[in-house]
Amino acid sequence: MRDQGNQCSEQLGERLAARGLRPTVQREHVYRVLLQDRDHPTAEQVFMRAKKGMPDISMATVYNCLDALVKCGLVKEVNVDRAAMRYCPNMHEHWHFRCDNCGAVYDIDLPPSRLRLELKVPKGFQPKTYEISMRGACPNCAQDN
Ligand SMILES: [Zn+2]
Ligand SMILES: [Zn+2]
Repeated sequence: MRDQGNQCSEQLGERLAARGLRPTVQREHVYRVLLQDRDHPTAEQVFMRAKKGMPDISMATVYNCLDALVKCGLVKEVNVDRAAMRYCPNMHEHWHFRCDNCGAVYDIDLPPSRLRLELKVPKGFQPKTYEISMRGACPNCAQDN
């Protein structure tokens, strides 16, 4: 998709180096897997996908790569359904929509700054981050009903 390839590996190399982590082909590969399908895969799913382009990558390596990507701020851990941790490479502030029917998790870009003004937080609390998760039917599943 487009020619983000080189840009992505440069950015990755820089980010890893900044945290004292080594850029490796595995880390780059796992990052690419995450960028490719933005459906918030679990580590298990990342592993299955990573194996396609790199048949001898191990689950332990995938965990290590995900950990490095999270540490260097390129990937976020998302816990949408209180089950397995999912991974999201969208570092812009956004929320998640989980489809009750197919289980897919979508990014929802809403302007959090606007909602922030409308949220009433009890006196004395100083929120720094907001997390909103929505559930329902995704467009594909909504059509079927
Ligand atoms: Zn769905
Ligand atoms: Zn996301």
